Amino acid sequence: MSVRVRFAPSPTGPLHIGGARSALFNWLYARHHGGKFLVRIEDTDIERSSRESEKNILDALRWLGIDWDEGIEVGGPNEPYRQTERLEVYRKLAKELVATGHAYDCYCSEEELAAEREALMEKGELPRYLGKCRSLSPEDKAKFEAAGRPPVLRFRVPENQIITIHDYVRGQVEFESNGIGDFIIMKSDNIPTYNFAVVVDDHDMNISHVVRAEEHLSNTPRQILIYDALGWQKPDFAHISLILGKDRSKMSKRHGATSIEQYQNLGYLPEALVNFLALLGWSPGGEEEIFTLEEIKEQFTLEKVAKNPAVFDIDKLNWLNGHYIRQAPVGRLTKLAIPFLQEAGYLEENLSQERIAWLEQVVAIARNYISYMQEITQHVDIFFRDQVEVLEEDAKQVQTWEQMSVVMKTAHALFAAAEELTEESVKAMIKAVGKQSGLKGKFIFQPLRVAITGRTHGPELHQIIPVIGKAKTLARLEAAIK
Ligand code: GLU
Repeated sequence: MSVRVRFAPSPTGPLHIGGARSALFNWLYARHHGGKFLVRIEDTDIERSSRESEKNILDALRWLGIDWDEGIEVGGPNEPYRQTERLEVYRKLAKELVATGHAYDCYCSEEELAAEREALMEKGELPRYLGKCRSLSPEDKAKFEAAGRPPVLRFRVPENQIITIHDYVRGQVEFESNGIGDFIIMKSDNIPTYNFAVVVDDHDMNISHVVRAEEHLSNTPRQILIYDALGWQKPDFAHISLILGKDRSKMSKRHGATSIEQYQNLGYLPEALVNFLALLGWSPGGEEEIFTLEEIKEQFTLEKVAKNPAVFDIDKLNWLNGHYIRQAPVGRLTKLAIPFLQEAGYLEENLSQERIAWLEQVVAIARNYISYMQEITQHVDIFFRDQVEVLEEDAKQVQTWEQMSVVMKTAHALFAAAEELTEESVKAMIKAVGKQSGLKGKFIFQPLRVAITGRTHGPELHQIIPVIGKAKTLARLEAAIK
């Protein structure tokens, strides 16, 4: 059987971590097996669906590097790929289910249904629809119609049946049909429900494996009943585990940003996020945690998807992202850094080529201290400000050293006379400061560092001084002399 898998988001909000992981697992499975990956839109929740969310989801997928072979925007043999544009398909099949006795009109009101649910719960039973409208006579129906009650269409769930799901992740899972209750497949506005439309689409689009979040496991027996009623072959299923926060409660906003767009906006790199998402519930085994998309694709199997919940660990994401930031070309990082630096007031709007070349030097140093690009604004003040601010206690202490004055004066004379500040020339000048002052080690480095950066720790002086430039370096030494 050739592999055909799909991601079928409901466009009711931005693409979340969980959705992105479902999309990625499907994509990986398709790519690993040389199969096809489809993306289609489940927008039957008309009130909550929007084109804006749809665009957000598709943009986020593309940003992550997830492409699709068929579906929304790219087209394919089963167009259209938005459920609200396929309503005729569902309506026709709904009629067929009525004709074969698998579905029936139900006129129960909200109040009646609520009363039924309550009564069942009071008896300690599962709240479900008990089939009041299962066998209405044509006269009963006519009465309801005359009263202007629009019916919903319910699926007639067979009694005393065990529904078995063979799931790649969860193994064999069984459900009793008696616990299900006749469920709605067409709403009173003649729009299909998720459980019905998803089956029709998966069948029409020849989906071989349904890979989706565990929260849909309880929907699966309903879907299986529909496949059986229509005499269709069922796909295989794989329900991937929930994502929990570090405190083991369901992942939510409390645990950090939940949408892909938020991570993009904070300056995370897609290759880091994809690496991280892949490890949310999947592992190739072994200690290694850093994988390119290409490597994951080669190793990905559904059998290695874990049964227990995945834990969303933001520290791990930050660690991975920091790793990728240190690997990325400086030019690319600089482009990402510019909007943050502009926003923080460090950078002007229009940047000359020269300024960008200088910025690349700043980014090359600062990237060693950050987990995501937005953090760069906290590590660049020494390159932009005319003067430094000394806030640390340790640094204030260094300012009182008796060696301060001679180091400042010697360094100032040497730097002022220098033609050009390069790593090499700065190294040589710092050596010369030592020779001329008769001081060594920290008694040279600490005063210089505090005067030029305001801090006692940080990148090598010979790396940062050429980037800070001669004018600012001299000004800071002068300020320290005063
Ligand atoms: N629209 C559903 C969701 O976003 C898709 C479920 C499925 O993959 O069957 O959760």
